[in-house]
Amino acid sequence: MRITKVEAILLRPMGPIDTAIGDGSQDGVLVRVHTDEGITGLGEIDSSPSVAKAIIDAPPSHKICSGLGALLVGENPLEIGRLWQKMYKGSLYFGRRGAAIHAISGVEIALWDIAGKAASKPIHALLGGARRQRIKAYASTLMPDTPAEAAKVVETQMKAGFQAVKLGWGPLGRSAELDLALVAAARKAGGENLDLMIDIGKGWQSVREGIDRARRMEQYRLFWIEEPFWPDDYGKYAALAAAVPTPIAGGEEETTLADFERLVDKGNVEILQPDVTRAGGIGECLRIAEFARRIGRRCIPHAWSTGIIKAATLHVLAAMEEAEYMEYCVQTTDLNQRLVAEKFPLVDGHVAIPDRPGLGIELDEAVLRQFAVQ
Ligand code: MG
Repeated sequence: MRITKVEAILLRPMGPIDTAIGDGSQDGVLVRVHTDEGITGLGEIDSSPSVAKAIIDAPPSHKICSGLGALLVGENPLEIGRLWQKMYKGSLYFGRRGAAIHAISGVEIALWDIAGKAASKPIHALLGGARRQRIKAYASTLMPDTPAEAAKVVETQMKAGFQAVKLGWGPLGRSAELDLALVAAARKAGGENLDLMIDIGKGWQSVREGIDRARRMEQYRLFWIEEPFWPDDYGKYAALAAAVPTPIAGGEEETTLADFERLVDKGNVEILQPDVTRAGGIGECLRIAEFARRIGRRCIPHAWSTGIIKAATLHVLAAMEEAEYMEYCVQTTDLNQRLVAEKFPLVDGHVAIPDRPGLGIELDEAVLRQFAVQ
């Protein structure tokens, strides 16, 4: 089997995009890797869609400076490890981290989809086998502007069947009083048994401010506090983690295992959150998860946007030796809710691991046509 084409399709709504909110599910980029045997692999990249597309489409400039598509055409798609290295080395001049690794992630997911379809097995069966048939899911959505609305969001998600809710970004970080009031309202609405997570979305400035707010939040028993500071401020992460008992989470901006090693070494982060469509793909996420497990940290992958990332993340979670939670984005955008035909229903707060070949998903072609930028 040979790769004949690597396609990056931009997905964008006809209407305006709200750039004031942190919701990356408004637009997207889909990867399709085609082969000479008629098998097509699907992937997604949660990045700047146009930048990721350019990284795939760019013609070769020299030995270590090439678009990913040109590196892969003619290759055997089943040689995923070797092709990952070929993409990493072939894009080194502009890559190594950031958007190039995002793009490699989406292509790598599509290669695994091909491998699964070729073997008539779900991806996790090629990763050593599923260690679980279902995984607890937490509802992940944006923090609204007021405590009353925060309470309502928690109630809505619990009614939908979630036993864990994360609220993030929005007004968090604006003031200590509002941060506290939002968390207090969410806890009150969720009751004592809800696992409640908070994603500050880089909204805290100083270590002192972070420690003060995290300490005052202890009474609300947060399951974790996520991305309190700008991701490069490792020293701030380390100081906060050392000062408070609440687990600190981070890593959605990091790419490759090397970044996650630094996040632990310098940032002392307890919960590592690689995103399968950003951090390097399925294989790299499993290496990061194993690194976390080995050193007594936790790995709870980040996932936002469509059913493609949901499926890819579920295969990673199935193959992880220790897995706690799936991040389940509940944004009501069309791409999140409708691009993939499978709905990943909740049963008793859990989502089933896909068991059909490859990723185990089909695109809704009508939604694809509606959003694909020509
Ligand atoms: Mg986050």
